[in-house]
Amino acid sequence: MSFPPCPKCKSEFVYQDQNHLICPECAHEWNPSEVLVEDSFIVKDANGTLLEEGDKLTLAKDLKVKGSSLIMKVGTKAIIKRIVEGKDHQLDCKVDGVGEMLITAKFVKKA
Ligand SMILES: [Zn+2]
Repeated sequence: MSFPPCPKCKSEFVYQDQNHLICPECAHEWNPSEVLVEDSFIVKDANGTLLEEGDKLTLAKDLKVKGSSLIMKVGTKAIIKRIVEGKDHQLDCKVDGVGEMLITAKFVKKA
């Protein structure tokens, strides 16, 4: 059985201790299943606060709605319905007065 290389120093001499993997070269310890979760689903707002599904948000800046002349004003409230994997628009939100909208996480603040 082989393990993935150390996420910190890329060492391949990783060994397992119960649920954790340990790197003997930089002493980094991690849980391989948590690393996978972090890679895909950790999303942070404009202040670096972790966002989760169901969180209430306000917009941190005016956002133009693609394909229309509508602008969602800074301070508009929204609720995260779903967090999606994506480089740009990670938050599937319900926005007050607008409806469902995909929004970039760094343009919102947790309320
Ligand atoms: Zn290491």
